[in-house]
Amino acid sequence: MKRILVTGGAGFIGSHLCEKLLNEGNEVIALDNFFTGNRSNIIHLLDNPYFEMVRHDVTMPYFAEIDEIYNLACPASPVYYQYNAIKTVKTSVMGAINMLGLAKRLNAKILQASTSEVYGDPDIHPQPKTYWGNVNTLGARSCYDEGKRVAETLFVNYYRQNKVKVKIARIFNTYGPKMHPNDGRVVSNFIVQALQNKDITIFGDGSQTRSFQYINDLLSGFDKLMNKTAEDFIGPVNIGNPNEFTILELANSILELTNSKSKLIFLPLPEDDPKQRQPDISLAEKVLNWKPEISLKTGLLKTIEYFNSLLMKSF
Ligand code: NAD
Ligand code: UDP
Repeated sequence: MKRILVTGGAGFIGSHLCEKLLNEGNEVIALDNFFTGNRSNIIHLLDNPYFEMVRHDVTMPYFAEIDEIYNLACPASPVYYQYNAIKTVKTSVMGAINMLGLAKRLNAKILQASTSEVYGDPDIHPQPKTYWGNVNTLGARSCYDEGKRVAETLFVNYYRQNKVKVKIARIFNTYGPKMHPNDGRVVSNFIVQALQNKDITIFGDGSQTRSFQYINDLLSGFDKLMNKTAEDFIGPVNIGNPNEFTILELANSILELTNSKSKLIFLPLPEDDPKQRQPDISLAEKVLNWKPEISLKTGLLKTIEYFNSLLMKSF
């Protein structure tokens, strides 16, 4: 039995990960400051004697005897990471320093939840992991993008200097049950709006693209990266679904699948909103023998079912 620390364990991805790691027979410590995470995501795990929920901010050092760390703590929705930009930088950078320090002391393996945002508004398409990116260091998204880029720099240098066993996953837009209904990200926004027959808020003309990955595919990618690669394979590796859609196509799919009467409305495009995004996953296919398996339609139906029952409960 391994003891595994999941920072950001009460968030969308973190709570799914805690559940999976417990089901696989591990002991899990979830650490979270509940900024965007929610107790309801992990409440069903609290009775499990092998699960511990710790209220803690990763900008402060933390110590526990553990074998592995998944470093997920950081708001991921643009609305929330821009709310307190300085705190977002601190969370990414100081959080990485604190968790890498812990991994170094304990000789533990540590996986970083990096992001496609390290590529910024990319001018190479699709994005291979060798692309250095196009990030505006001063823009509204820079607190997140640059924080995550520095975190990657810290990870790779702890590997080079201290031989810490690091793994870097560059995650592309991931969705699924347990996203917060007011999270602000596009999939949750559109589904909640469609289920309530409210206007669907398209930012810009909806021609910008994203490639959406269902949560279960991400978790299988994490597992392969953490457990099935040689210790000297540190990544970074893109973990995402290459199926690329415009935001308008996503809105129309959700309208159809929810049978909604909502209308589309067009609002200004936020600053520095990337025009296109699609992962090149050839490295993941080669090294991890991994590729996503869940189609957008299947994943959306599961997510719609989740939000539907959540909205029913609130009435
Ligand atoms: P989320 O906002 O649901 O989860 C983040 C969790 O981190 C929340 O529970 C939040 O309360 C916690 N947190 C934030 N700041 C903290 C701090 N200072 N100390 C302790 N806990 C803190 O987002 P998510 O989608 O689950 O994302 C998890 C990780 O994956 C993030 O690091 C994010 O950058 C990365 N990621 C996610 C996506 C995606 O599409 N979901 C894409 C790329 C990268
Ligand atoms: N978006 C939108 N309407 C919304 C929320 C988001 O049109 O209500 C757009 C947003 O401008 C971006 C895309 O959807 O082009 C994805 O946004 P999200 O915040 O989910 O993630 P990110 O921009 O970080 O990929």
